[in-house]
Amino acid sequence: MEKVIILRYAEIHLKGKNRGYFERMLSMNLEKSLKGLRHELHRTSGRWLVEKFEEGREGEIAGRVSKVFGVHSYSVGLLTGSELDEIYAAAKLVAPQSGSFKVETHRGYKKYPLTSPEISAAIGGRLLAGNPNLKVDVHAPDSVVYIDVREHGSALVFGEFGAGAGGMPVGSAGKGLLMISGGIDSPVAGYMMAKRGLTVELLHFHSYPYTNDGAKEKVVTLSKLLSPYTQVTRLTTVSVTRIQEEIHAKCANELNVTLLRRFMFRIAERLARERGYQCLITGESLGQVASQTMEGMTSSNAVVTLPVLRPLVGFDKDEIIERAKAIGTYETSILPYEDCCTVFLPEFPATKPKLSFVEEEEGKLDVEKLVCEAMQTAETIAF
Ligand code: ATP
Ligand code: MG
Repeated sequence: MEKVIILRYAEIHLKGKNRGYFERMLSMNLEKSLKGLRHELHRTSGRWLVEKFEEGREGEIAGRVSKVFGVHSYSVGLLTGSELDEIYAAAKLVAPQSGSFKVETHRGYKKYPLTSPEISAAIGGRLLAGNPNLKVDVHAPDSVVYIDVREHGSALVFGEFGAGAGGMPVGSAGKGLLMISGGIDSPVAGYMMAKRGLTVELLHFHSYPYTNDGAKEKVVTLSKLLSPYTQVTRLTTVSVTRIQEEIHAKCANELNVTLLRRFMFRIAERLARERGYQCLITGESLGQVASQTMEGMTSSNAVVTLPVLRPLVGFDKDEIIERAKAIGTYETSILPYEDCCTVFLPEFPATKPKLSFVEEEEGKLDVEKLVCEAMQTAETIAF
């Protein structure tokens, strides 16, 4: 008998001719998540088993694999032989000490001499006889002992289902570049797109020396918090200090943020093209702040041709905060810091910038030169 972790994925996503592709992605991502821990990963009909890990490590392993997108549920269980005595020995360890229970059996191996209900009845009866504090309740039991009889004379016995992260395996839907600030929204946006299968790389703009190293550190921390989900491996930082100074010196004050955004999008697109990323991702939500209006988004979109994904566009701030808390980025996001957007922030930023006015003001700048100079400041941190 051996302790194992059973992982299930939603077959609905994996049917058809792409199934092998998704399964390979998922197994690769599971292997990545288990790096550094002794284990073996085996696929059996419609699920994975993590086996041969060190004793006592199951909590840590379950914690890691449950964050891998594509895993819908997991159970810590026992892998044993399929003789009734062996199943019973495992069931005794899985069964509760008291209260009501039932046994539910699934028979992958159809030639097993007993039917599923017969196995359930036999094991349930023995558990009951062995512990006077138990009683059977097939309709609303406190606990369930699950038995899965498999081919090759083995069986799985387990008691609980834990929720996995859901979604699609990261890497199965292409690659995107997340513009990440130190705020609450962008990490959540990255999480959501990774959950749909995008590989997400990160780009952060800073205005050093107006913003300090604390701001960058914060983004590094956020990136690391996201990485068990997104498997992020790289964060690129780019300075927009020169750009902000130029905008501040030469352009209409109320367009500071609008114009800076357009530069951010241009730089992001250039980096994405250099590295083969297919879309940009932001944490914008319609109407949340002055620059996140239809006009603001139109003005940013006008300078790029890659699709811009804004997964939070229809979310309320409350909903975003709830998600940030659930994925564990909220506490870091609310630490005080200077974002480059708050440096040079005008008192009354334009909420409905007209594209023609934006372009006219931008005409006062050497856009190409500023973008190229900014690209020279790019630094990539690998995790
Ligand atoms: P967030 O909580 O993500 O910071 P926000 O509500 O503060 O969002 P803005 O500051 O207007 O909104 O930024 C909108 C989006 O633009 C962010 O979600 C992010 O995708 C991008 N962005 C803003 N500032 C930066 C930055 N310094 N570096 C990279 N991307 C940024
Ligand atoms: Mg922000």
